[in-house]
Amino acid sequence: MRRTIDCSHMLSMEIHVKGPQDQSPTRQFVSSFATGERIDGLVVILSQNDLIFDNMHIHFLGEQSTSIPSNTPSKAHHQVIKLVQDIDPSTLPNPKVFQKGRRYNIPFSFEVPDYLPASSCPHSAHPLIKAAHLHPPPSIGEAAIAGFGGKLRDDLAPEGCKTVYSIYAKLERPNITTGLQETIIERILKVRIKPLAGDVPLPDVPLGSLADDYSLYQEGNIQDSKSKSPTGQLAVTLEQPECFWLPLRDPISLISKAVRLFFVYTPSNPQATLPVEPPDLKSLRAQIVATTLYTTKFDDTQPPPKQRNFFNRPINFRDAELPISIPSLPRLRWTRDETGVETGAGPSYTATLLVPVTLPMEKKLVPTFHSCLISRIYSLSFQLSVHGSSSTFRLRAPMQIAAERDPSALPSYNASVGVIGELNESDL
Ligand SMILES: [Zn+2]
Repeated sequence: MRRTIDCSHMLSMEIHVKGPQDQSPTRQFVSSFATGERIDGLVVILSQNDLIFDNMHIHFLGEQSTSIPSNTPSKAHHQVIKLVQDIDPSTLPNPKVFQKGRRYNIPFSFEVPDYLPASSCPHSAHPLIKAAHLHPPPSIGEAAIAGFGGKLRDDLAPEGCKTVYSIYAKLERPNITTGLQETIIERILKVRIKPLAGDVPLPDVPLGSLADDYSLYQEGNIQDSKSKSPTGQLAVTLEQPECFWLPLRDPISLISKAVRLFFVYTPSNPQATLPVEPPDLKSLRAQIVATTLYTTKFDDTQPPPKQRNFFNRPINFRDAELPISIPSLPRLRWTRDETGVETGAGPSYTATLLVPVTLPMEKKLVPTFHSCLISRIYSLSFQLSVHGSSSTFRLRAPMQIAAERDPSALPSYNASVGVIGELNESDL
């Protein structure tokens, strides 16, 4: 059993980290690091009395926790990474007594790995899923550190769903009567971690039933507004957007991409003598949907399917909708296509619409990720209505967000130091 005897009234212990570009260790509001970067810092100890200790530990920890409140609530905790600092004995007092009024600086240095140890993911039966889970997930769900740079921003994580990285320091000494090690002081400093991707974004993992949310193509009948008789058929195709790359250390740039919608209108009566006008847009709405999915079971299908309760409310996911601003309703520029005329099918009309999609700056969109307990996926959805059709065209495509890495930096495996992955699942 872990024992603690609080000596924090007798000594102070603070964790100071250098920012990635800082030279001096300072205690910052939020320290943000990317995978492949080094977290250097000091544990500073100041004692008000002479204080005997036995062991000092400094760890870099990455932990996930999820909880699903329901009639049968369940919780899970998963340590994705634990790096152990080898403490230089010359930085500690000898004999092991912190002297009254003296300041002790104990340095640490951790490299945030690009890959987690294989032991941190139990999903060995699914190589693609395991490969995705061995990328460190980004910090998520901890409001005190969510954001970019010094700014705090909502990262759209549902409640009870967190990935937290921290520097953890503790001092121990043996109990006078039992001889067992007791913690006399411990401190935690949370740091923000952002995983970077290389030239290629993460591999696509099979999404199972989640893929049913996507629809890249829809057809609908068009009617004459007065007579209500059918005049033709409209088909709309949404082009799947390319990966949105978050630039390296640049919180200011707008991240934007033009996404295409293709329209084909086929008049129903090709022999009609009167010119057939293809329909125009009546409305166009678009949004990015940030979906966070989570589970408390390691043996669940990965990523877990969306579950809803009796009242159709989400149980294990949150769909956060972020509207995309479209300043004015665009006009479709139709081109007459004569290809079908020779075959007797008649002409058709085609149009392409380019919609600029900009990632919202006021929210923190963490890169797409899949991990043992939590996944974040994004999709881009459009709702459009056209003159002559009573139904709405709803299209939704998967979209990926990845963070750029410095092309000159080599991936870090960090396999040689004490990397431990532990599983710890508990149901309440
Ligand atoms: Zn896993």
